[in-house]
Amino acid sequence: MSKLRFKSVEEATNRKAVKVELPEERVEKYYGKQVFNRQKMFEYLPKDTYDALVKAIDNREPISRETADSVAAGMKRWALDCGARHYTHWFHPLTGSTAEKHDAFVEHDGKGGVIEKFSGKLLVQQEPDASSFPNGGIRNTFEARGYSAWDISSPAFILDNTLCIPTVFISYTGESLDYKTPLLRSLNSVDKAATRVARYFDKDVKHVICNLGWEQEYFLVDEALYAARPDLVMTGRTLMGHESAKNQQLEDHYFGAIPKRVEAFMLDLEYECHKLGIPAKTRHNEVAPNQFELAPIYEECNLANDHNLLLMSVIEEVARRHNFRVLLHEKPFAGINGSGKHNNWSLGTDTGSLLFAPGKTALDNLRFIAFVANVMAAVHKHNGLLKASIINATNAHRLGANEAPPAIISMFLGSQLSEILDKIEKNETDENIELEGKGELSLDVAQIPELLIDNTDRNRTSPFAFTGNRFEYRAVGSSANCASALIALNAAMAAQLDEFADAVDARLAKGEKLEKAIFKEVKKLVKAHRAIQFDGNGYSDEWKEEAARRGLDTETSAPLMYDIYMHPENVEMFEKTGVLNRKEIAARNEVKWEMYTKKIQIESRVLGDLAINHVIPAAVRYQSLLLDNVYKIKELFSGDKSDRIASQNLATIEAISEHISAVKTGVDAMIDSRRAANKITSEREKAIAYHDTVAPKMEEIRYHIDKLELMVDNEIWTLPKYREMLFIR
Ligand code: ADP
Ligand code: MG
Repeated sequence: MSKLRFKSVEEATNRKAVKVELPEERVEKYYGKQVFNRQKMFEYLPKDTYDALVKAIDNREPISRETADSVAAGMKRWALDCGARHYTHWFHPLTGSTAEKHDAFVEHDGKGGVIEKFSGKLLVQQEPDASSFPNGGIRNTFEARGYSAWDISSPAFILDNTLCIPTVFISYTGESLDYKTPLLRSLNSVDKAATRVARYFDKDVKHVICNLGWEQEYFLVDEALYAARPDLVMTGRTLMGHESAKNQQLEDHYFGAIPKRVEAFMLDLEYECHKLGIPAKTRHNEVAPNQFELAPIYEECNLANDHNLLLMSVIEEVARRHNFRVLLHEKPFAGINGSGKHNNWSLGTDTGSLLFAPGKTALDNLRFIAFVANVMAAVHKHNGLLKASIINATNAHRLGANEAPPAIISMFLGSQLSEILDKIEKNETDENIELEGKGELSLDVAQIPELLIDNTDRNRTSPFAFTGNRFEYRAVGSSANCASALIALNAAMAAQLDEFADAVDARLAKGEKLEKAIFKEVKKLVKAHRAIQFDGNGYSDEWKEEAARRGLDTETSAPLMYDIYMHPENVEMFEKTGVLNRKEIAARNEVKWEMYTKKIQIESRVLGDLAINHVIPAAVRYQSLLLDNVYKIKELFSGDKSDRIASQNLATIEAISEHISAVKTGVDAMIDSRRAANKITSEREKAIAYHDTVAPKMEEIRYHIDKLELMVDNEIWTLPKYREMLFIR
């Protein structure tokens, strides 16, 4: 009988695909069924309330108390009609996940019974007891109150019989305690600045909208095997485990046939997404075994981000229904690809133009080049900040570790766009810029083919790539709240566009012609910021050296990367754009350091426990079997012969001893490092200590554990192995 702590893999995982019951009706019938969208608003709100709310949403204005009361009444009626019994303000605290506190609709009716009540006040603002959310010291304990306020630009929805109202979460003194608040501010500021520039080309532009199309990568693991891996349960990744003999080297998983069990799961997931108004569109296998991707159609950034956060909770629930666990961790398994969340980012006008796409006319193309040049400048100036915005203890396993993308932010532009920029840089005849007429420009701006790159030359090693009409920020982690990256990116872009517009305005004031003024400023940007462009292999060692020569940020320590948030140029940029003030930035850094420490601390504890409680006992048991065998050999045989026969086992016994003692001393040393680090009071210094002294010891311990895994009898090894977890049948 096997003494495995989990049933045999066959027994544990040989499960059939769970049958998914989809409704007979077509997707358009149930799409958005659980969302209080405009159609529901129209149905459930009085006409004047509907008009006032839609006007407020479109013009980004607050709503009056009367409107709020009327909306609350209609929203409640809709929610009750849908079977909801509770409501919650749904917000995004700095933990990176979502938070909700549910209240029932009931109130006393004064007659011993209850009535279902939901006022405008409850809809618009609440005061969750928020003292246990990370705040980086913004709220002292005596002023622990924070409040959540409705974000009318993101529609309410029903999840598990609860009406969820998307809200911002702020301290009583007005500082943001979440991701949504600064994201909304950054969207506002990039709207203003980009509109200013877009209006040089089209006077009808009133707003610029930021679009986000995220691609969520994830792993699935059978839940029986997951439950037998305490490291997966506690940390979301395997802290040990020898590589499977076969993993992704045959490249047979990417875009391969989706296993039936997984397909059923995906079908179910997409159905849930569509009911919640998440426009899930694409699904496929990813590169690593058991790795998959879901991508929706892109949406306005704030809404898209809410949808991603919602997806991250829905996917977990649906996975359980299919006897899976979903791993959103950036690096659940060593030696195979990790998961990211590509952020496809673009700006578009309310008149329908995408600003990072070439157009039909010479003027369209000058606009396109102007916006691309400004992205280059923003990303170049703030490359270190953009990296800091996506780094954390989990994504650090992707960036700069043994897998792409590297811990350097660069931009891939592709050969066609490159050629155009070359021409602009070298152009000596900018005095003769003439966009009207035949459009025969010396720099060929006029002749950019409409579908410029058409995704032909792609570079998967670039963390920030131009892909035809958008930029794909690939370095974002799979478990991240995208807002962190987009706050930095939009704020940097807003500041850059404002600077550009100031320079152009100054030229116009001197009487220069518009196209000429723009072209001159574009040329300046291209010259100054070409260093951010890198179209080569981002994984190579040469690139690291080259990037350092170019002055790009090559820091690889997460706790040190956060420092850059407080650099004067970044504080100034955030304050000027109104996205974050100094106090908020400092507080957020405190939270980041604290989170970093806690993540590594938990991993280190779990690894220590597993090493002592699972690994060493299993190794010792196997070693005893071998010792027993040696004794018996010695009894039966004598002299040289017995030595010869026992030699193989003796060598293994010795090797096991060495690994066991390395594991034991490693764990002791790791605990010592943790103790020393825990005494440090500064969050920054503590995180640095965890990075420099605790994390490396985990790697050393793992090395010896993985060696033992190869030696010890399979029947005795208590933990499911990579080869068992990674191939869903
Ligand atoms: P891949 O990069 O894997 O080929 P797709 O071409 O399917 O992916 O697109 C990925 C995501 O990019 C999708 O969410 C898609 O809607 C989004 N996307 C496409 N065009 C834009 C755009 N202009 N702005 C933002 N996102 C976009
Ligand atoms: Mg992509």
